[in-house]
Order: sequence, then structure tokens, then C-alpha cells
Amino acid sequence: MKDVRVRIAPSPTGEDLHIGNVYTALINYVFARQRNGKFIIRIEDTDRARLVPGSEQRILSSIKWLGLNYDEGPDVGGPYGPYRQSERLDLYRQYAEKLVKEDNAFYCNCSPERLDEMRKQQQSRGFPTIYDGKCKREHNQKPKNKNEKYVIRLNIPEEGKTEFEDVIRGKISFENRLIDDQVLIKSDGFPTYHLAVVVDDHLMKISHCIRAEEWISSTPKHILIYNYLGWHQPIFAHGPILRNPDKSKLSKRKNPVWVSWYKQQGFIPEAILNYLALMGWSMPDGKEIFSLNEMMKYFILKDLKAIGPAFDVRKLEWMNGEYIRKNQSASWRTKLKSQIYEYLEKKYPEEIIDKTIPLIQERIKKLSDYLPLCEFFFQQPQKYELDLSDKKGLIKQIIEELEKLQNFKEDDIGETMQNLATMLKIKNSEFFMFLRIAMTGKKISPPLNESMEILGKDEVLKRLRYFTSE
Ligand code: GLU
Repeated sequence: MKDVRVRIAPSPTGEDLHIGNVYTALINYVFARQRNGKFIIRIEDTDRARLVPGSEQRILSSIKWLGLNYDEGPDVGGPYGPYRQSERLDLYRQYAEKLVKEDNAFYCNCSPERLDEMRKQQQSRGFPTIYDGKCKREHNQKPKNKNEKYVIRLNIPEEGKTEFEDVIRGKISFENRLIDDQVLIKSDGFPTYHLAVVVDDHLMKISHCIRAEEWISSTPKHILIYNYLGWHQPIFAHGPILRNPDKSKLSKRKNPVWVSWYKQQGFIPEAILNYLALMGWSMPDGKEIFSLNEMMKYFILKDLKAIGPAFDVRKLEWMNGEYIRKNQSASWRTKLKSQIYEYLEKKYPEEIIDKTIPLIQERIKKLSDYLPLCEFFFQQPQKYELDLSDKKGLIKQIIEELEKLQNFKEDDIGETMQNLATMLKIKNSEFFMFLRIAMTGKKISPPLNESMEILGKDEVLKRLRYFTSE
């Protein structure tokens, strides 16, 4: 079999990488890595009107954040670059002209007004709204007048069918008479997606075109271009589209869609990818939590279900919690520490975060849960959930006992405090509640003795003295 080369081709027309694109990226990535193939990123930025400044950088950094490392792309290069379509305009033009020369495409100078009128008429008669072929019939030539606007359209045969074999869906067939004479070069001189995608997939030697279901209806146009230019087609596979829990297409209105949102909310890449892997596919033994490496062992593209199940943020949240909790290995803890450190924009000391991990690993579901629980490790509480102003006497005694401690370790702290509570005949629950409030400001916190050890003797005494100073 020929070398496997797959790509994702995001358009920088949104805020960031769309979660649906992450899904497509995941499938392509796993497929490539299973076969020692190449995973490529191409930026499809020919729709100049919809371009969003900064989108490309955010897309690339989100892909890296997810750990889907690519082999060739706009910033890493590769043998068939440039991988940004706006830098390849001459190529597209050249192939469009070849298509015209061979009568497989034609110049069209129909005005927007005429096209509007044409569509209205078609609609009123209940016909599909596709180009009516006027300029094709008239064998329109390239306008001589430079100021005259024109486009180049694909010449779709009037009869017959265009068919292709989809790895996931089997044979798909389209009646040519229902396919639009697609614009290939727009009046601004830029190619449309349809021409650029075929030229690039061919020149970049893409072996498998694995993309979302929404592109199925474009595929016959692409097949015709491949045929007209005498090129081999890649193998096509159209994966399921992600849905909202109500089964509608995943949309901004019903579900957060940008990777940056998931990152901000404290989701971790491993959980996001694992959750997405379950959309339309499952492990042979049905287990829900698995690594990318495990997925690579078992994933079979053709087994992907054509209809994707609902993408449910709450389920992802559950899985995120499982990820944070389940792994007690030292290497995972180190990784989690780095993720928290990065999440907090490196503003808090890594050594302290490191010490807190064993205390909080079971208690957080998302990285965003960390700071509300642990902020007291880094600074004295700003607020106290209980008023301790009438506890001065007790706090003074606590200070006296703790001052005597040579070894400020959790066991010694615990024992000393327990003895004091017993001696003073104060109920344990009350005694430790006051102490907890003095240390953390909150009624609920990570385990107290361990927390005090991490804070250290000086800091603990300082926090207690805060209540006894006049
Ligand atoms: N530029 C298209 C997108 O934004 C790529 C579709 C394809 O993979 O062919 O999703």
C-alpha cells in the first residue's frame, strides 16, 4: 500500500479550533500513527471575507496543546508546502485555466442580480437552486475588459451519475443534473475551497481524505475535478458529525465549541481526546477510559459509526475528573502538577503545587477547581467563613503548643493538636474547625495536618498570630 498521508484542513474563520475539528484531527492522527504515516495541517484561508485575525495561531497552538503533533504544516514546513492556501494562489489559477481550456470549466460573468433572479424563479417553481448554465451554453470567453467581473465555474455533466466509495458509508451516488456548476475561482481571484482542496490534496500526496459528514455533498464535485485533471483520487472517509444532546448539529448556541473554552474551564487534553474517541467508536472490550496509544492498537476506521452520539459536556467533566483522580503514578502526578502550573499561568510556585497534589487529586474534577481549594497555600486568606474574634485565648494556646514543635510534620502536628483539644475538653469537630478556618479561611479544605506541614511552621504561626494581635 502507498504511504499514508492524511491531513486536517482548518479554515481560520472562527475564534479558535472547533471541537468538531478536534474530533476529525484525532481520527486522522490516530489513523496516521497506526500506519507510520504523516499527519499534516493545511490552513485553508481562501475565504478572505470570513478570515478572523489571530485564528490561525490559536488553531495551531490548540492542536499542540492537545498533543496532536503534526509532521508537516504552516509552521513546521514539509516537502509539499507552503501549507497555507493563500500562498499558493498561482497554482490554483493554473489548474483552473487548464480546466477551462479542456472545456471542463467555463468563464461566467453573470451578475449577482441575474443569479438572484434565477434562484427566485427556480424556488418559485420548486426546482433546485443551481446555476442554469447560461454562460456554459454561450461558450463565454474570458472578458477582455480587465474591470469586468467574472468567475470560473466547473462544468458538471448534465447527465449520468458521480459516485464514490466511502470507507465508512459504502457507495455514495449523486445525480449529475442536481450538482451545481460550482464556482472554482471567485471574482476576487481567489479559489474556492472545492478547487483548492483537490489541487492541494493531489499535490501534497494525500492518501486518505478523512473529514466530517458535512463535506459529503461536495465530494462529487471533487471527484469530477480529479477525473478532469486525470488525477488519482484519495480514499474518502466521512466521519460522523458531533451533535448536541438534543441531537441537533453541535453549535455555538447549545454547546461550547472552541478549544480555548475547554482549556479555560480546566479540562485536560487527555480527557478531551478520550471522550471524543468515544463518539462513534468504542474499544472492543467496551472500556471507556483509555490512552491514545491504546486507541491506536484497536482503532479501525471503517468501524466508525456514521451517526455520532451526542457530545455532552457533563460526561466530559466526569471523565476529566476520572483522569485527574485515577492515576496515582509518580509520572502522572508530575504531569498533573505541570498542567496546573500552566493553567495558573505560572503565577504560583511549582514546588508548592507539587506538594499539594496528593492532597487534592481526589478532590478536583477540573484544573479550575484547584485554586479555589488551594489558594490559601499561596497567600493568607482574604476572608474567613467564621468569626474567630472570641477565640483569642484558644488560639494563644495553640500557638504555644506549636511553637514547641521541633519537627513540623503532619503526624506531630496532628498529635499535638489532638492532645490540646482533649486537655481543653473541646469537641474535636469544633477545635479543628477553628484551626481550619484560621489556616484556610474555609470550613472545607484539603486535609488539615498535611496542609499545615506544607504551609510550614513560620507561616502557620503567622496566621495564628493574626488573630491574637491587638
Ligand atoms: N476547510 C475545510 C474545513 O474548514 C476542510 C474540509 C476538508 O477536510 O476537506 O473544515
